[in-house]
Amino acid sequence: MIEKVVLYLLNCTLFNAFFVYRTLNTNKKVKYKNFLHEVGRSWISEFRNRSEANSDDLQLPEKQTTPRRPKQDPPGRLSGNFRIHKLEKIAGVVEGKRRYPARQCIVCVANKKRSETRYFCKFCVVLLHIGSCFERYHSVTNY
Ligand SMILES: [Zn+2]
Ligand SMILES: [Zn+2]
Repeated sequence: MIEKVVLYLLNCTLFNAFFVYRTLNTNKKVKYKNFLHEVGRSWISEFRNRSEANSDDLQLPEKQTTPRRPKQDPPGRLSGNFRIHKLEKIAGVVEGKRRYPARQCIVCVANKKRSETRYFCKFCVVLLHIGSCFERYHSVTNY
């Protein structure tokens, strides 16, 4: 019985939403059935996006724990928009419980220095030191 009520209410809500949707899209001939289809699809993709985002917050699967350098530098690397570049601690490196070792900083490697970092730029997915390496990577073509 409760399920039926819930379904009924859900249907009402969707039907109302459909009317709003149709008013907004007057030039399109939308059928209720198609609309339901769309809603269903967006729900599914939203759910997927969310679960993907969540898995980012938690730990990545073993294989992807350490971010790998993409073959090419990300196009936004030198955009100068520092707001999109954020350093994050490598997942899996837990204080006191070092499950994964720190990795080589890409700028230091390019300059033949051996120096490890525990941070990476979330946007570029590149391992970097906080500070000069981070700035260098995002402002100099040949870092
Ligand atoms: Zn460095
Ligand atoms: Zn970056």
